[in-house]
Amino acid sequence: MTRRPLVAGNWKMNGLRASLNEIEAMGAAYDEALRARAELIVCPPATLIALARDIAARGGLGLGGQDCHAAPGGAHTGDISAEMLRDAGASYVIVGHSERRSDHGETDADVEAKAAAALRAGLTPIICVGETRAEREAGEALSVVGAQIEGSLPADAPSHVVVAYEPVWAIGTGLTPTADDVAEMHAFARARIEARLGRGGSEQVRILYGGSVKPSNARELLSVANVDGALVGGASLAAKEFIGVARAYC
Ligand code: PEP
Repeated sequence: MTRRPLVAGNWKMNGLRASLNEIEAMGAAYDEALRARAELIVCPPATLIALARDIAARGGLGLGGQDCHAAPGGAHTGDISAEMLRDAGASYVIVGHSERRSDHGETDADVEAKAAAALRAGLTPIICVGETRAEREAGEALSVVGAQIEGSLPADAPSHVVVAYEPVWAIGTGLTPTADDVAEMHAFARARIEARLGRGGSEQVRILYGGSVKPSNARELLSVANVDGALVGGASLAAKEFIGVARAYC
């Protein structure tokens, strides 16, 4: 089973119109050799998606949102629906990022509803899971992530959904798990996805690793079995770094 690697940039709450230059530069550097090996998408703040649409399309890049509401529309001040993201030019949306889970109290049930909303709107959800440092130190990493997969992945999800394993303690800290720990977690995650979706589906689901990925460690992390790409935060803000991560596939 070959799964096309996906390298996704999560800009978080960073980026003004001037930052569109970085998306332009990413497209310029996304050459044929790289396109043949990996899919690249950028998830800028929602304010930039419609503005980035043509630039990203010219460069062969996809776009994603960073969150969506479960409802298609209505009285939800400040929220954005999956349909709105799609209309603006997104084809993906990140759901259940640990910053959403911690800053906004999102539960697995919320994340599952958002993932279902994404699918309803024709978007591919990138469903994030990951343990905290205390949970890893208590030996609970596998059980925590297993429960998050069980609770956050819609049971009828198609195999093009994406799951991102992002240990909370590795996000934005410069710390990363060992390659052995990543291998153990990704094999476990695939087994839990299989339990939820059935064998045919689970083998096609891409499981990304996220947490302090940068050009200098990308090759090691992305070559681990069952790692089908990366969700990249800080290193996705500058084209040079983001493309440097993706070049691990060349
Ligand atoms: C993220 O927030 O999804 C992330 C992985 O961040 P960073 O790469 O900065 O650790």
